[in-house]
Amino acid sequence: MKKIAVVEDNPDNRLLVRVILEPLYEVREYTDGPSVLAGLEPEKPDLLLLDISLPEMDGVAVLQRIRATPGLRDLPVIALTAHAMAGDREKYLSLGFDDYVTKPIVDERVLLGAIQRRLAGGPPAPDTVPAEPGLVVSGTLDQLRKRGGDKFTAEMIEVFLQYTARMIAQGRLAYAEGDLVGVENALHPVKSSAGNIGATRIQELAARIEDLARNREPEPIGSLLMEINDAFIAAKPQLEQIRQSLIHL
Ligand code: MN
Repeated sequence: MKKIAVVEDNPDNRLLVRVILEPLYEVREYTDGPSVLAGLEPEKPDLLLLDISLPEMDGVAVLQRIRATPGLRDLPVIALTAHAMAGDREKYLSLGFDDYVTKPIVDERVLLGAIQRRLAGGPPAPDTVPAEPGLVVSGTLDQLRKRGGDKFTAEMIEVFLQYTARMIAQGRLAYAEGDLVGVENALHPVKSSAGNIGATRIQELAARIEDLARNREPEPIGSLLMEINDAFIAAKPQLEQIRQSLIHL
């Protein structure tokens, strides 16, 4: 079985990637750049899936270190990113990534196809325009159930509920302190967690807040943070109910 290392700081995304990969590959998980850089030489994976947006050291910096290390330089590395914009593929390929997969991972065949091509030494996939947020997530929970079963879907919802509550609170606190970098860092993972389970409204609000914070525009982040908090509180009972029914099926 080929071995794949995954670096991803978002627990929902990690769980999703693990469930997709585990039937086919041996999976090693890391949550940040320094730990994967320490683990690559002893673990010798066949391929690395590398999140771009990571705390402290981002994925591009991790890749640069890998390409500068003689024993690791030829390791196939696929970028995983939620910053999906036209032209990103060229950008990441020119930085030295072997391929590029966008999050949320709605269709597992895209990820598995990229891995299989890379392990076989084939060329990266042709560019595709990323789908609109709101459009890709309908039926997301059904897809999760098909992919990972009811228990897995219930676990994804539980992780989402706990993690998102914490990140929204963290974002509001950062905003109150005038820390827009903190707002950006707190809302970025909310966007992809919400996308994974199909919580479109929360996903869209998180994306808007993240963009404003990244551009260091304080308005109207305050009211959007209240809106996303309300949207989360509104979605919570419904998600909790779905989670319960999945456990008791
Ligand atoms: Mn990340």
